[in-house]
Amino acid sequence: MIFRQLYDLESGTYTYLLAARAGGEALLIDPVLENTKQYVTLIEQLGLQLVMAIDTHTHADHVTALGALRDELDITTVMGERTKAECVNRTVKEDEIIDVDGLKLRAMFTPGHTDESFSFAMKDRVFTGDALLIRGTGRTDFQNGDPHAAYDSLFNKLLKLPDDTWVYPAHDYKGWTVSTIDEERRFNPRLQVKSAEEYADIMNNLNLPNPKMMDIAVPANLQCGRQNNP
Ligand code: FE
Repeated sequence: MIFRQLYDLESGTYTYLLAARAGGEALLIDPVLENTKQYVTLIEQLGLQLVMAIDTHTHADHVTALGALRDELDITTVMGERTKAECVNRTVKEDEIIDVDGLKLRAMFTPGHTDESFSFAMKDRVFTGDALLIRGTGRTDFQNGDPHAAYDSLFNKLLKLPDDTWVYPAHDYKGWTVSTIDEERRFNPRLQVKSAEEYADIMNNLNLPNPKMMDIAVPANLQCGRQNNP
């Protein structure tokens, strides 16, 4: 398998490039518009053919590259079935399998950070979007976020994956690159709670400022990454 973890310095976003084999078909998870050229160059250098790009959710902190990649390379753009983004040409349901050249990802509906967030699981790893971060979890105070739904996604879905599953989140701001389900269960401070109420209490009292890009990114991401729509 070919696997690259790419980082957007501006927004602290991780983008993942995956392919089953050299010379085969590839997919991107959570690509950032400003880095489109970098992705295309890398994909060419690795001799891959990009066929799909997935967003785990409608991002509030960066503009998605899904629209640009679809227009440029005629790829399939994927999000979970609850998305309102107009440029997605395939939506996936809970437990639906995405198969790219034999590389299989299982869609997991993991709302809470937003009401349309999905995670994508492989045998040995899971791409959690902002549902589960490393030693943190995605905020639940905008975009129809809901701490009770987040608790359910975390404790009844993601933490039920095998202990040694690698956790690859959509963001990190502290230099963490990867974790495991077991490590997060034991050491993630947000997960050391005894009930959904306790979790909601923590999440409802974070008092975070809105992301810098939010007013630009959310509307743009609902329109394929276009920022100057008439
Ligand atoms: Fe997010």
